[in-house]
Amino acid sequence: MPTLKAVRGTRDLLPPETALWNRIETTARQVFARYNFGEIRTPIFEDTSLFARSVGEETDIVSKEMYTWEDRARAQSEKPQSLTLRPENTAGVVRAYIEHKLGETGQLQKLYYIGPQFRRERPQKGRYRQFWQIGAEVIGPPSAGSESPLRDAEVLEMLATLLDTLGIAGWTLELNSVGSSADRERYNQVLRAALVDVAPKMCVDCQRRVVTNPLRVLDCKVPEDQPIIETLPKIGDSLGQDSKDHFAQVTAALEAAGVPYHLNPRLVRGLDYYTRTTFEFTHGGLGAQNALLGGGRYDGLSEAIGGPKAPGIGFAMGLDRLVLTLQAKEADHSSASPQVADAYIAPLGEALNAPALTLARELRRAGLHIELGDGSFRLKKSFEAADKAARRIVILGEDELQSGILTVKDFASGIQTKVPCVELAAHLAKPGGA
Ligand code: ATP
Ligand code: MG
Repeated sequence: MPTLKAVRGTRDLLPPETALWNRIETTARQVFARYNFGEIRTPIFEDTSLFARSVGEETDIVSKEMYTWEDRARAQSEKPQSLTLRPENTAGVVRAYIEHKLGETGQLQKLYYIGPQFRRERPQKGRYRQFWQIGAEVIGPPSAGSESPLRDAEVLEMLATLLDTLGIAGWTLELNSVGSSADRERYNQVLRAALVDVAPKMCVDCQRRVVTNPLRVLDCKVPEDQPIIETLPKIGDSLGQDSKDHFAQVTAALEAAGVPYHLNPRLVRGLDYYTRTTFEFTHGGLGAQNALLGGGRYDGLSEAIGGPKAPGIGFAMGLDRLVLTLQAKEADHSSASPQVADAYIAPLGEALNAPALTLARELRRAGLHIELGDGSFRLKKSFEAADKAARRIVILGEDELQSGILTVKDFASGIQTKVPCVELAAHLAKPGGA
C-alpha cells in the first residue's frame, strides 16, 4: 500500500514551529483586546450560496477555488444541500451578524477570528489549499457610526501596530478607494469603453471579465497583461464627491496618526463586496506572494445576503505568510528552538517510576516544565536523554527517596548539588547555570 501523505496544498505544523504560530496568535489577541475587539468563531463550512452571493460569482474564489459538495439529503423529498468549506471568513461573520440580530444592539460590533480557510489554488511558497487567516470586522448600523472614516483609519492604525508589535519591519500599506456601488457602475462603463480595443490582446480570463465584471481586469495577475492594465483609466477619476470626501478623511487621519501609506489606484482586491476604502499590506520578503493581508469596506454586503443595512470594514491576514516573514527575519531562529524543560527527572530503576511521577506532578503543579524519564533506562541513557530535553537532571534513587535529598546536576555549569525535596521547586525555578 502506498504510504499516505497530507493532501496536496495542506501541511502539518510541528513543534518547534508551532511555538511561533502561537506567539503570533497570542500577540494578535492582545492587540485586538486593546482595541476592544471580541473573538467570533464561525463554522468551517457554510451553505454554498453564502459565498456565491457575498464574495461574488465572477471572482476566482467562487468560480474555481471552492471545495464544494452536496450533502446527503435527510429525506427523499428533500433537495440535497450544497455546502462549501469556507474560502474566507467575512461572509460567515456577516451571516452570523444577521442571524443573531447583532445590529439590534444599536452598537458597533468589533469581532476578530483566527482559523483555517480553504481554496483550491496552485500550491507554492506562501500559497496553500488550507491556510490560516487572522481577521477582524467592524460592522453595525449607520447610526452606530459604522460608516465613519475614523473606523477605517482606526483599523489601519491597528494593523500597523500589530505588525510593528510582531516585529515585522518593512511593510507597505497600499491604499485605494473603489467608491460606492454607483461610482463603480460609472467606472465599469468607462472601463468597458476603454477595453473595447485592447481586450482582444489580453488573456482569455480578461476577455470574459470585460463582459461580466470589467473591474476584475485590474486584478489580473498575467504578466503580459500588466502593460495594458497600466494604460486603463483610474477608478479615482470616477469617484463621486461623497466617496472622495470619505477617502480624504481616511488619509488625513492616517497622516495625523503617523501611519505611512502608499496610494495605489489599481488596487481593487479580489472580492466583489468591497466599497470605498480598500487596502493591502505587502512585504518585500515574500516574493511573488507578497500580500501579508488585505481588506476594505463592504457597506452593501449585509444587504446582499438578505440582512439589514450594516456598513462595515475588515481585513484578513495570512498567518502562514506572517510565519514565513518572521522565520526569514529571525536568523537565529530563537523562537523556533526546541523546547527545553527546566528539569529531567531520572528514576533509577522501575520501582522508582511511581514516586518519580508523583514528584513530577508536584513540580509541574508548581509551574515548572518537567520531562519525566523512565526507570528502565541506565544512568548513561538517562543523562543523554536529559541533556537533549532539559537544563538539569534530577536523580531519584532509593537513597534519595529515603533521605528526601535529591541530586541535581546543571548541564550548563556542570555543577552537581544536593537539594532537599521541599526546596526543589524553588531551586529549579532559578535560571540555569547553578
Ligand atoms: P493573493 O493575491 O495573494 O491571492 P487574495 O487577494 O486572494 O491574496 P484575500 O482573499 O484578501 O487574498 O486574503 C487575505 C490574505 O490571506 C492574503 O493577503 C494572504 O496573506 C492570505 N492568503 C490568501 N490566500 C492564501 C493562500 N492560498 N495561502 C496562504 N495565504 C493566503
Ligand atoms: Mg488569491
